[in-house]
Amino acid sequence: MSAAVAGNCQKAGCAKSIPMALAGVRLCLDHFVDEAFVRTDQALSQCREGRAIDSDKLQWLLSDALAVVKNLEEGADEPMPEQRDRMLELLLVLANVHEYVAHHSARVERPA
Ligand SMILES: [Zn+2]
Repeated sequence: MSAAVAGNCQKAGCAKSIPMALAGVRLCLDHFVDEAFVRTDQALSQCREGRAIDSDKLQWLLSDALAVVKNLEEGADEPMPEQRDRMLELLLVLANVHEYVAHHSARVERPA
């Protein structure tokens, strides 16, 4: 394996390497996408219920999206169809969240 890595995933029992784009969260791509899905799903149901979303959380989701895009770019020449599909799906859900925040009743709560 020649790709640059940032150590091993911090999840117990997971020996996968951390891609450089995810060095900040210390997770392998699979675990990162798992956690990002959970956060994004929560945010989307919060939006659908018309509850406010705090701006910190929104920023976090945005940085998720950026990490996903970086990984898509880095993996462009070594196809991993399942991972790519999951990442693209995640980007779609994130886009929905932003759509809600921009055009629907969801409010962004800013710290006072
Ligand atoms: Zn892992």
